[in-house]
Amino acid sequence: MDLNGVFHTIGLRRDKLDMIILFFFFAHWYLSLFFQTFFLHRYTSHKMFKMTPFWEKTFFLLTFIFQGSSFLHPAAYGVMHRKHHSHADTPEDPHSPVHLTNIISFNLSTVNEYRKLVNEFMSGERKSDDVPRWYLLEKIGESVITRSGFILLYVLFYVEFATETWQYALLPFHVFMGSMHGFIVNWFGHKRGYRNFEDTKDNSKNTLPLDFLMMGELYQNNHHKRPNNMNFAVKWFELDLGYIATLILKKVKIVH
Ligand SMILES: [Zn+2]
Ligand SMILES: [Zn+2]
Repeated sequence: MDLNGVFHTIGLRRDKLDMIILFFFFAHWYLSLFFQTFFLHRYTSHKMFKMTPFWEKTFFLLTFIFQGSSFLHPAAYGVMHRKHHSHADTPEDPHSPVHLTNIISFNLSTVNEYRKLVNEFMSGERKSDDVPRWYLLEKIGESVITRSGFILLYVLFYVEFATETWQYALLPFHVFMGSMHGFIVNWFGHKRGYRNFEDTKDNSKNTLPLDFLMMGELYQNNHHKRPNNMNFAVKWFELDLGYIATLILKKVKIVH
């Protein structure tokens, strides 16, 4: 495609399009994050609200599309996350930065536990854990061909629209988007920040007073204190964007 010709036709100069890559990056960041916090965390793991089978499948599909190459198997995510809550920051926690103080061992433990659960679900060894299942889409999402296809799409997008070489440094974030969001929450959320509730037995922290970065997921201390509360924000200055999004979906009767 002759992009310069297209830009000329729509009256844009290429240097005005430097923003396309940044827009793509932030759009992917927040869309992938939204489906992680809304579908994988709040719905699959905690069952904070209900939706019809149609909407459950729709959100399952959108989670697959927006997490893309780093799609996280919902059932495995849900079971691992429940284990995290019941054993938070004890040696049985699959990802506690208190016990796994080195980033490499922390990530290895998380990945091992997660892969073990994915294998158990995919082989049929583990069945009923009260988590959403969609066998065909799980198979497609877990396939190396699908993951490589998504990576190829990200690369092609950058080749087409990147205007500066440094922009390519953002590419790995697209590839590992879902797992990277998980890492940020699990590592920093149990390591750095302030505590509103000193009486939780874990080391959960609220990492950012205003969590614009992770849509409320960084209020780990509030969330561990009240794991079934839809709103992760407690103080007047805290804002849980994931909760606000859920309220909107409740208003339009998609969730109940
Ligand atoms: Zn936690
Ligand atoms: Zn949780």
